Amino acid sequence: MIDFKPTEEQTELQKMARKFAKEVIRPAEMAIDKMPDPDAAYQSPEFRDTLAQAYELGFHKMGINEQHGGLGLDPLSTAMVWEELAVGGVGIPATLLAGSVAPAFLSVLAQGKKDLIEKYVVPYCEDTKADNISAWGSSEGNIGSDGSNYYDTKVRHETSAKKVDGGYEITGAKSSFVSNGSIANLFLVFANVEPEKGICGSGVFLVPLQDGVQRGKSMDKLGMRALNQGEVFFDAAHIPEDNMLMPPSDNYPFIHNAIKTVGNLGVGYLAVGLMRAAFEEALQYSKERVQFGKPIKEHQAVGFRLFECYQAIEAARALLWKAAWTLANKFMGDLKLSAAARVFATNQAMKHTVEMVQILGGYGVSKEYNMEKYMRDAKLLQIMDATNEIMTLKGIKLL
Ligand SMILES: Cc1cc2nc3c(=O)[nH]c(=O)nc-3n(C[C@H](O)[C@H](O)[C@H](O)COP(=O)(O)OP(=O)(O)OC[C@H]3O[C@@H](n4cnc5c(N)ncnc54)[C@H](O)[C@@H]3O)c2cc1C
Repeated sequence: MIDFKPTEEQTELQKMARKFAKEVIRPAEMAIDKMPDPDAAYQSPEFRDTLAQAYELGFHKMGINEQHGGLGLDPLSTAMVWEELAVGGVGIPATLLAGSVAPAFLSVLAQGKKDLIEKYVVPYCEDTKADNISAWGSSEGNIGSDGSNYYDTKVRHETSAKKVDGGYEITGAKSSFVSNGSIANLFLVFANVEPEKGICGSGVFLVPLQDGVQRGKSMDKLGMRALNQGEVFFDAAHIPEDNMLMPPSDNYPFIHNAIKTVGNLGVGYLAVGLMRAAFEEALQYSKERVQFGKPIKEHQAVGFRLFECYQAIEAARALLWKAAWTLANKFMGDLKLSAAARVFATNQAMKHTVEMVQILGGYGVSKEYNMEKYMRDAKLLQIMDATNEIMTLKGIKLL
C-alpha cells in the first residue's frame, strides 16, 4: 500500500523547515533580491547570517552519511524539507544544495578516501557558521549542454589536469554559472586527463581554494539572486594525487547521469516550493481583492488559474516523491523518472508563476509584491544542472 502520510520525524522536520523558511529565508531572499551589487550581496549579513543559521540547523548536511557527521536522511524526508525551504525562496536552498555536492560525492562515491573525508566532509558537517562552502564545476565557456555530449571525442573540457610529481596540476576556467563559484573554498572540478577521449577523458578532482585558484566576480542575473554564481580560474593549481576522486573512464556517462538523477530531484523540489509560494499568495490575494462586486477568486477565469496551479503542485510533488522513493529503493535511482519529474515540475513552475502574476494584475509586476520575483526565479530552474531540453533527450533515450 502506498502511504503518503509523513512519519512523526518527517512532520517535525517539515515544521522546522517551514518556520525557518518563513522567518529567516523569506525576508533574506527579498532583501538580497533587491541588492544591486551581487558581490556585496553575498557578503551581506542577510546572506551570511541566513546561511550560518541554516548550517546550525543542519540543512546543509541532510543527505550526508551519519558516519561522516551528516544527518543521513532518506530521499523522501529531504524532499519534504527542500520543498518547505523553497517556499521561503529558492536561492538559499539552491546554495545549500550546490554546496552539498562535493561533500556528498566524497561521502557516497569516494568512501575509500578516508583522509579526504576527515579533512573536508567531517568539518563541513560540524560547521555551524557556514565557513565551509563548496562548489562543483563542469560547465565552461564552451561546455554547456556539451557536458552530456559523451561520444563526440572532439568535445572536451578545456580545464585540464596534468600529472606532475606527487599529484596533478589543474589549469583552466569554469563558467560564470558555477553555483557558489565566487564564495566557495572547495571545488569539485571536472578536468580532462586524456583529451583524445573527449568528455569521457575527464576525471573528477577535489581542489581547495589555494595558490593558483582564483574566484571570479559574482554573476548579475535575472532571478535566484540569492544564489551566488561565478567563474573559477585555475592556474597550475597543485593538488595531491589522492584528490583525484574519479579517473577518466568509460563509466563517465554512468557516473555523470547518476549525479544528474540526484540533482534533478533537488531542482524539482525547488520548483514545487516556488509554485507553492506563488499559489498561496495569489490565493490569499484573490480572496481579498474585490472587483465587479465580489472577490476575484469567484470570477471563473481566476478560479480556473488557481485550481490548475494547485493541480500542478500536487502532480509535480507526487512525481518527485515517486522518483525520490525510487532513489531510496533502487541502486542509483531512475534517471528517466527523475528527469521526467524535474522537467515537469520546473515547466509547471514557469507556467504557473506567470499565471499567478496575472492574478495580481498590475500588483503582480510591482516590486512591492513578491510575485514578480517568483516568476523571475522560475526561469533559472529550467536551465540549471542541464537544461530541460537535455534532460528530456536523456529521458527519451531511456524510453
Ligand atoms: C541557476 C544555475 C545554476 C548552475 N549551476 C552550475 C554549477 O553549479 N556547476 C556547473 O558546472 N554549471 C552550472 N550551471 C550551468 C548549467 O549546467 C548550464 O547553464 C547548462 O548546462 C546549459 O548550458 P549553457 O548555458 O551553456 O547553454 P547551451 O548548452 O549553450 O544551450 C543553449 C540552448 O541550446 C539548447 N541545446 C543545446 N544542445 C541541444 C541539443 N542537443 N538538443 C536540443 N537543444 C539543445 C539548450 O537546451 C539551450 O536552450 C548552472 C546554471 C544555472 C542557470
